[in-house]
Amino acid sequence: MPDTMVAARASEKTGSAGTQAVDVAVVGAGFAGLYLLHRLRKAGFTTVALEEADDVGGTWYWNRYPGARCDIQTIDYSYTFDPELDRAWKWSEKYATQPEILRYLGFVADRYDVRRDIRFGTRVTAANWDQGAERWLLTTDHGAAVSCRYYIMATGCLSSPKPPEIDGVKDFKGEVYFTGRWPHNEVKLAGKRVAVIGTGSSGIQSIPLIAEQAAELTVFQRTPNFALPAHNGPAPADRVALLEGDSATYREQARWSLAGVPLPQQTEVSWQLSDAERRERFEKAWAAGDLVYMLTQLWADQGVDVDGNALLADLLREKIRSLVKDPATAEALSPHDHPFGSKRPCLDTNYYATYNRPNVTLVNLRQEPIKSITASGIRTDKRAIDVDAIVFATGFDAMTGAIMAIHPITGRDGKSLSDVWAHGPQTYLGLAVSGFPNLFMITGPGSPSVLSNMAVSIEQHVDWVVDRLVAMREAGFTTIEATEAAQDGWARHMADCATLTLHRLANTWYTGANVPGKPQGVMPYTGGVGPYRSICNEVVGKGMLGFRLKGPGVAEQCNDGEVVRLQPDVRLVLNMLEEMKLPAIESLGAQGARDFVTEFNAGRPAGRPVGEVVDGTLPGADGPLPYRLYRPATPGPHPVVVYFHGGGWVLGDEQSDDPFCRDMCRRSGMIFVSVGYRHAPEHRFPAAAEDGLAATRWIAAHAAELGGRPGPVLVAGWSAGGNIAAVTCQLARDRGGPEIAGQLLLCPVTDCAVERPSYTDNATGYFLTRALMYWFKDLYCSPADRSDPRASPLHGKLSGLPPALVVTCEFDPLRDEGVAYAEALTAAGVPVQHIEARGHFHASFTMVDVVITGVGGRMQMADALRRYAGLPPERKQGDEGLRPGRTASPHEINAAAE
Ligand code: FAD
Ligand code: NAP
Repeated sequence: MPDTMVAARASEKTGSAGTQAVDVAVVGAGFAGLYLLHRLRKAGFTTVALEEADDVGGTWYWNRYPGARCDIQTIDYSYTFDPELDRAWKWSEKYATQPEILRYLGFVADRYDVRRDIRFGTRVTAANWDQGAERWLLTTDHGAAVSCRYYIMATGCLSSPKPPEIDGVKDFKGEVYFTGRWPHNEVKLAGKRVAVIGTGSSGIQSIPLIAEQAAELTVFQRTPNFALPAHNGPAPADRVALLEGDSATYREQARWSLAGVPLPQQTEVSWQLSDAERRERFEKAWAAGDLVYMLTQLWADQGVDVDGNALLADLLREKIRSLVKDPATAEALSPHDHPFGSKRPCLDTNYYATYNRPNVTLVNLRQEPIKSITASGIRTDKRAIDVDAIVFATGFDAMTGAIMAIHPITGRDGKSLSDVWAHGPQTYLGLAVSGFPNLFMITGPGSPSVLSNMAVSIEQHVDWVVDRLVAMREAGFTTIEATEAAQDGWARHMADCATLTLHRLANTWYTGANVPGKPQGVMPYTGGVGPYRSICNEVVGKGMLGFRLKGPGVAEQCNDGEVVRLQPDVRLVLNMLEEMKLPAIESLGAQGARDFVTEFNAGRPAGRPVGEVVDGTLPGADGPLPYRLYRPATPGPHPVVVYFHGGGWVLGDEQSDDPFCRDMCRRSGMIFVSVGYRHAPEHRFPAAAEDGLAATRWIAAHAAELGGRPGPVLVAGWSAGGNIAAVTCQLARDRGGPEIAGQLLLCPVTDCAVERPSYTDNATGYFLTRALMYWFKDLYCSPADRSDPRASPLHGKLSGLPPALVVTCEFDPLRDEGVAYAEALTAAGVPVQHIEARGHFHASFTMVDVVITGVGGRMQMADALRRYAGLPPERKQGDEGLRPGRTASPHEINAAAE
């Protein structure tokens, strides 16, 4: 494709000082702006795009530095809205260069004839919502202002270069370049002494090529970054075959994937693989030269668990050592301060090998920070390095920079966006802001944007916005605004999602940490492209949930509320269970239900290793009972926890809560003995309760033989097991022991006699149903027995019981009886800690490796057990911030990064 195709063919700039009136004004003519113009025009809206640059391309117009390429394979980093376009354009390489991508965008602009609606060389300087006219007025630095009903910011997430924040830049007498504003004329670095400051993607792409030209290259590195070889060349044949074989399916898979690239979701976790298997997977990924593959396909816990991530980071550092000859330089290039993937990793061509060249020197700014730039070069606190040219590869004021650069943006009631965002961006879906009617952002903060293949995310946003404008026009609405409740709910959901990933553990431009003084917090949506798409669709399906729509002559519409109240992984699990169309357990009969649960459990990930797992039998109230003991790997003797599994007194056994017992054994550093108590209907009430006491007595009496610490034991249980644990505490108090130091009651049944509102609120749709609970109760105890404290501990005497941690989940039929028990225990003078787990369901904490957001709760459970046993709290790096409802503060991000 000839370069002339993108030669500036700018539409005529409006010279007059008048106002240009359109239905929709778009700011920006990159990937997003171009597609917007095409869709808006097709939908019949009058429109104009205002673009500061002199041509289309956005990112690919500005970033012309040597080596600039995409880091998502180009067949994926393309528009997908028109299959004809797919066929009309053939990429020459797996990762196309900047000139080729720019030619592509020029080709698209011409093919859909959008240039005539673009005013190039025009920067939007301010935007003001005129409440009376219900229109935005955009002020520009050139030509007419624009009056529009809808204002769409397609201003880019990485379009506002960050100032270098180094003293003396103006004093430098040599050449100065910014990768993000690279000159259009040829830059000649041959034979010169060149400095590159910055080792993010831009630095890492440009350094090898600059090294080939320059007489001397000095790289100033503040933070080393992980980089993978691109192994560029033709697009991989297997991927091309998939695309060309069935492009519709290929593109659709990308749209519903996590990162916008059609790769499956990895389910195996690191500890399910041997060292050799992990290495084999890693070598395959290294050879593939694919960032998204390395980020998503090795093992499922690499992006969410510090230990799973460290295994991968170690392998990557090993590669760096093998590629860089000088060990000290290799060490300086090896990242240790952030988990792999928490900072955008880079894709390189010969980056590490470049440091083996005699003309390349690495300056580690952690050891010798830059003091200033002088007339002749760069001075660190150890030396002065004279250079002829400085390349700033120092990055961008990402995600919010270009939006905030339009100042002021004044919305309803004179609200200024910079005030509203003073403590960080607040949005609904990353698309809209409460108080700013008819304003949309494409890939704004709060959407997957930069954590995804942007081409896919841009198309999704453009389609969503334009479809909404069409629907509004048809319904007679003229204004749309996000509600505060919806926006606040989205902030909570964003924080919940961010808690899941390791992004919170790194100082990056994702969190705003790269710009001094910028408010910090994870800005992109970390929940994934597919889940995000389904949420946006759900908003529409629920009558534009969280938006207020108004128009002349039509009734106002506002279905207010939060679109996601569940924890993100709980939402995924429940959706998955719904898709599986499982039979109602109560319809299977007791044995059928047991077989079903056994089969279901067989398919779950194996629990984490512990020191030892031992099976045995102990005497129950009426005969032997099986038990399974989990011993920590740490030296003993350990305190002993007697554990009762869930399953409505009907299902499950001493093995069925295996992942939970393993996790709690590891976290608490205590022995867990899971008891196989008798089940209904064969053994109805009070068999399970009596077994609970008998088992606890035997375990307490034999603690030392079991390798445990003699003395008081602890009890714990989930669901019906929580009921047995609570009852055991009451019986032990009343019948002469054993001594119990504390009780952990996880979603316990505490009252079989009274039905509380959570039975109705959460009757169906959250795994444990009201109907199933009725079935369990009927099989276990007759109505006459239901007030007996051995069935309903809430009806028993509560004073004098051991301290308790009660955990209740918001979306659980058992929620309210758990709350009632916590309150009643407190009223009776028992020390109680109550965790009300927001957004969780009955199985959140026992689905150990599926519901990652349950980690925080389990940490608190382990803390409580240790406290009851008189042990100090235990901390694992990276766990902080996982506590329910918490988002890591900037201080914690810094501390974790240290
Ligand atoms: P941009 O392309 O940034 O376009 C925004 C436009 O808005 C710019 O042209 C800007 O001049 C204009 N603008 C902003 N403010 C104003 C204003 N006030 N007035 C007038 N005009 C204004 N993403 C990927 O998914 N894969 C990749 O491989 C990839 N590689 C990248 C490589 C580099 C070097 C960089 C910097 C980013 C890369 N990205 C990549 C992210 C990239 O930004 C997006 O993929 C995509 O190009 C963004 O398109 P956009 O239209 O949203 O924004
Ligand atoms: P970046 O990732 O933010 O990297 C900037 C670099 O400059 C960092 O190493 C940073 O160090 C350093 N730096 C910033 N200010 C400094 C200062 N005052 N003194 C010393 N060092 C300083 O920016 P980027 O490389 O331009 O990349 C930004 C994003 O754009 C990428 O993450 C990626 O999403 C996209 N991109 C993609 C590609 C691609 O391969 N397709 C290429 C370029 C960019 P610290 O880390 O210590 O802050």
